[in-house]
Amino acid sequence: MPARTGAQYIAGLRDRAVEVYVSGERVKDVTTHPGMSNGVESIAKLYDLQHDGAAGSQMTFDSPTSGDSVGLSFVTPTTPDDLAQRRNMMRRWAQSTCGMMGRTPDFMNVTMMAMAAAGEYFTQNRPEFKSNIQNYFEYIRENDLVLTHTLVNLQRDRSPMPAPLQDSTDVALSVVKETDAGIIVRGPRVLATLGPLADEIAIYPARNHQLPLDAQGAYSFAFAIPCNTPGLSFLCRESFDLQRSHYDHPLGSRFEEMDALVFFDDVLVPWERVFLLGDVELCNNMPFATNRIIHSGHQVVTKQVVKGEFILGLANMMVQTLGSSQLPHVQQMMAEIIESLEVTKACLRAAEADAEIDQWGVLCPARFPLLVARNAFIRSYPRMAEILHLLGSSSLMALPTEADMNGPLATEIKKYLETDTASAEERVRLFRLAWDTSCSAFGSRQVLYERYFGGNIQQNSIVLNTIYDKEPMTERIREFLMEE
Ligand SMILES: Cc1cc2nc3c(=O)[nH]c(=O)nc-3n(C[C@H](O)[C@H](O)[C@H](O)COP(=O)(O)OP(=O)(O)OC[C@H]3O[C@@H](n4cnc5c(N)ncnc54)[C@H](O)[C@@H]3O)c2cc1C
Repeated sequence: MPARTGAQYIAGLRDRAVEVYVSGERVKDVTTHPGMSNGVESIAKLYDLQHDGAAGSQMTFDSPTSGDSVGLSFVTPTTPDDLAQRRNMMRRWAQSTCGMMGRTPDFMNVTMMAMAAAGEYFTQNRPEFKSNIQNYFEYIRENDLVLTHTLVNLQRDRSPMPAPLQDSTDVALSVVKETDAGIIVRGPRVLATLGPLADEIAIYPARNHQLPLDAQGAYSFAFAIPCNTPGLSFLCRESFDLQRSHYDHPLGSRFEEMDALVFFDDVLVPWERVFLLGDVELCNNMPFATNRIIHSGHQVVTKQVVKGEFILGLANMMVQTLGSSQLPHVQQMMAEIIESLEVTKACLRAAEADAEIDQWGVLCPARFPLLVARNAFIRSYPRMAEILHLLGSSSLMALPTEADMNGPLATEIKKYLETDTASAEERVRLFRLAWDTSCSAFGSRQVLYERYFGGNIQQNSIVLNTIYDKEPMTERIREFLMEE
């Protein structure tokens, strides 16, 4: 089947009728639910972009099995051109959401591509797991499916000793039984961003939150199942799409990707959907051994560049509108955003420039620039949101709504809210966007998302420090100390 259209994506969601709950109620149809339908529309638009004439054809490639035009984020890159085209495609999707939807389907597409290409890795666990992961990847590519994923067990006791996995079986997702048909899993997971808007859910080991080597194998697995598998339910947080106009909530009314807790109530995972099972070490090593974390990093950093550009453009319009652009400390804050953006762009470029064919025959971006960019953005994005606060101050609260613009005080608003460079209408539109980016529930969630979606910064830093080869530099110091 060729790359899907938005309408086909929506029809698929409607047919699937996943068990989704929000605010104490079962959602009958996420595609029409007031808190979720706009997010669905935004994802549908991404699919429509694949059919947008000549530009759309740049977002697809010929499937190696069916020959159909399939989504470019499924490509298995082997040349620099493949990587560049994949990045351009992902950039186009990120621009369509102002970088505000982190889990657009390309994130999981590149992840599953890497796992499938490294099929031999899964053979070490059980021979059939290689064909399981490869058949699954072909299935999602050929059907252009949307995946969510959830890798982390619920916080209960994160005390460091004796081992990171302190959760008891009732709060950590675990295999409770193996049958002829497959494995039965039970427990909760956090968080499935895009969960209610997805077709399939994938569970696989996290780069951080590693299992101690003496952990029971019951905690170590990788699999993927349809979101409407019996026993699976998604408990959403409150929606940050408050069903207001694009004028009032320019971002929340468009890009609510939703986060959900996932409950597995004795869910049967058929054997053909199991990719790893019971081998703690293989699970712990999987993110780097398959390079799935590097390919997902390519998507993440591509999106971070778009998000950084969005913040810079927004900040620039704010200071132009308020006439503050020449103040020294304002320039310093603008420079901070520029520095973060340029470092992120440079890392993305370096990762592609230093890409190498990995042991699976895939052209893999260089890992360190991407890991560094990801860690750096965890620190820089909250600062960017803070800078928007500092640049906007009271203008982030002097915010008439669309109704006010035509209400009893419309004359006063027009008269007093204009600035030297912007009409009242322009100013209000702009600052409503700045507010939704940095102050609203939607904006606050963006900060939390950037802080945590890829693990906590402390553990990410430990991972970076552990795998970075510092020996050549250390040797240089040893040599220097020995110099007469
Ligand atoms: C908006 C949002 C969306 C998300 N979407 C997804 C998703 O789509 N898929 C998915 O799988 N996950 C998702 N997550 C979950 C994410 O993977 C986790 O939040 C992240 O891995 C951190 O795990 P945690 O929340 O359990 O926090 P913890 O790991 O418990 O960390 C919380 C804090 O505790 C401290 N801490 C705890 N343990 C240690 C330790 N051993 N060493 C050092 N410090 C420690 C740190 O200070 C840390 O900042 C999402 C999270 C958020 C906030």
